[in-house]
Amino acid sequence: MRKKLLLGNWKMNKTPSEAKAFALAAGEMVDLAVEHGIDVGVAPTFVCLEAVKSNINPKCIVAAQNVNEHEKGAYTGEISIAMLKEIGIDWVILGHSERREYNGETSVACNAKIKALLANDMTPVYCCGESEKTFDEGKTKDFVRHQIEEGFAGLSQEEAAKVVVAYEPIWAIGTGKSASKEIAEDTVGYIRLVLEGLFGGAIAEQIRILYGGSVKPENVSAYMSMPDIDGALVGGASLEPDSFLGLIKGML
Ligand code: PEP
Repeated sequence: MRKKLLLGNWKMNKTPSEAKAFALAAGEMVDLAVEHGIDVGVAPTFVCLEAVKSNINPKCIVAAQNVNEHEKGAYTGEISIAMLKEIGIDWVILGHSERREYNGETSVACNAKIKALLANDMTPVYCCGESEKTFDEGKTKDFVRHQIEEGFAGLSQEEAAKVVVAYEPIWAIGTGKSASKEIAEDTVGYIRLVLEGLFGGAIAEQIRILYGGSVKPENVSAYMSMPDIDGALVGGASLEPDSFLGLIKGML
């Protein structure tokens, strides 16, 4: 039985003091989620990680939005795994479509990061998803299969089971135009089939796959009613405590 997961992606929002205010306001809602068997977390910017980690309910996952796969050295502007670990961060979002678009992050680069995170007992949340053009052309499954094959390349079964996947159609991110629950389930179910082909049915059944793209308190329960969707990666609606609580309530 896969545990439900709600993860808020704060993108480039909130200063450290704003992030701290959210963390202090979120204590009881994290307990509510955990009491109902839901894993819950937020992904602030690097400069807000410590403010959130040290002020939020310790049961809340705090994730970074990226990491560099190299141990240390001449990588100006980058953040290493050891730096995250030292401040207690052990989850990282990888391959978000905004990083793919604006920072040239590829699935192959994500694969190296996934391997480095797993080697350090950390949890990667690997994002995939197609553009509107790819969706309109009916090529979503081919596109996403490729992203999954490249992202998971060379992983053992044991490693693959520890990766969280987030299916986020780009046309639904921040647009208010969410995918219907049927469209989301169709692709998420297909991703599970691809994972089954790569790692076998028992492993594919363990891997959590989230849907992301304009998820709100009003529509989250529809996605959660689908058999292959294990939770949500949420941008805009994760930024304010009231709305975050609404998301948790919609997942109960
Ligand atoms: C996201 O940032 O991953 C996302 C899905 O954003 P939004 O919920 O705002 O569409």
